[in-house]
Amino acid sequence: MQDRIKAILQLEPSDATVKAEGWVRTKRDSKNVCFLEINDGSCLKGLQCVIDKAKTDTALLDRIGTGASITAEGRIVSSQGGNQKTEMAVETLTLIGECPADYPLQKKRHTVEFLREKAYLRPRTNLFGAVMRVRSTMAYAVHSFFQENGFVYVNTPLISASDCEGAGAQFQVTTLDLENVPKTEDGKVDYSKDFFGKMANLTVSGQLEGETYATAMKNIYTFGPTFRAENSNTARHLAEFWMIEPEMAFCTLEGDMEWAEKFLKYVFSYVLEKNAEDMEFFSKFVLDGVVDTLRHVIESPFAHMTYTEAIKVLEPENDRFEFPVKWGVEIQSEHERFLTEEVAKRPVIVTDYPKDIKAFYMKMNDDGETVRAMDVLAPRLGEIIGGSEREYRYDVLVKRMNELGLKPEDYWWYLDLRKYGTVPHAGFGLGFERAVQYVTGVANIRDVIPYPRYVKSCEY
Ligand code: ATP
Ligand code: MN
Repeated sequence: MQDRIKAILQLEPSDATVKAEGWVRTKRDSKNVCFLEINDGSCLKGLQCVIDKAKTDTALLDRIGTGASITAEGRIVSSQGGNQKTEMAVETLTLIGECPADYPLQKKRHTVEFLREKAYLRPRTNLFGAVMRVRSTMAYAVHSFFQENGFVYVNTPLISASDCEGAGAQFQVTTLDLENVPKTEDGKVDYSKDFFGKMANLTVSGQLEGETYATAMKNIYTFGPTFRAENSNTARHLAEFWMIEPEMAFCTLEGDMEWAEKFLKYVFSYVLEKNAEDMEFFSKFVLDGVVDTLRHVIESPFAHMTYTEAIKVLEPENDRFEFPVKWGVEIQSEHERFLTEEVAKRPVIVTDYPKDIKAFYMKMNDDGETVRAMDVLAPRLGEIIGGSEREYRYDVLVKRMNELGLKPEDYWWYLDLRKYGTVPHAGFGLGFERAVQYVTGVANIRDVIPYPRYVKSCEY
């Protein structure tokens, strides 16, 4: 196993021979020496390899250009140049894979739109290397936060036969022959002939199944892919994204909010510590001051307001909004940004939304009008977390389902939880890509996931 470049860059100059493997980012030639900067994705910086032309086959050197894969063996020495502390004085250079001149990532700054078209190569750029390292660290931090706090990691199904949530349009999963769909006598699709014997979809949320495990193991979390066939061409929606959904039993909305705040701050702090170099890069080249913003978020308590209070703050500002607000309407991203950026100047948790704009499973307040929902709103982005205390009273839940035209018998197992040892419980969902966007400052969600899926786009 060879050392990664990140480790090699930490070495002090010495006589030991070191071997580095990587892809050439840049090549600079002078009369007597050739400089190759190689990168292996372990960190932002590359290793400067200095090649003495007099001792090297120049025909081989000529074949090494940007993008080629090479190995270089030599000693680590102090660097003459100002850009790096050390460099490698190469003794043995091996070309592994040539890279012809039509390589799309020539040394210049490419736009994210261009790089999206070359999604299979973009991890070789500074920007995407940094984003993917941070994404990986954040995934690790998610697990370590919950594991350290005694939560059990539960894998909820990706294929589901109940459109429980109504959270968004679903992708159907079928093995029926679409050219020749079997029909029942009354002309409907005959799902008894389908793979599962009934209609099935890709999941939009693992929450309902998560609740069944929370009411057995107290604190659980899920972390997996989620699918929504939403026709929203925005910078914060994908058709396939990753969601983290903790669920806590013996927990009310207050506890839910505490967990959400503690969790976000843990993940942000973790990244600032582990990926300091990448974070500096984002601050410099992606979003000015993103590191300071995160520090500020970590240090200050989140603001709190009820939906009703939020509307009171927003209503006098209606002139500036594309969608004016009044009590009862959805708070949209422009309002979320106003609340976080202009009013609170930090993340805001909005609670107690009108029941008509929230899901059936949220706990009804005593006013009969609002439910125990909470959204965590972040500056720049708007909603990053959506959560609630769940309705755990059997009768109230059945009444609510009937009001909304949902059939209680379709949710028999979910209702059984309220029958067999029911308990207050609460949870939330964090869109993982939204969190990565927030941390890196990357404007478009399509640039924080390796292969984005969205309306009319499923490349690679
Ligand atoms: P929005 O109003 O932004 O569409 P939502 O109310 O549909 O969000 P929830 O159903 O509460 O969101 O999902 C929980 C979390 O999942 C959201 O807070 C968000 O972080 C994330 N999320 C929701 N839809 C998407 C999507 N299409 N792409 C990426 N992340 C999403
Ligand atoms: Mn949505």
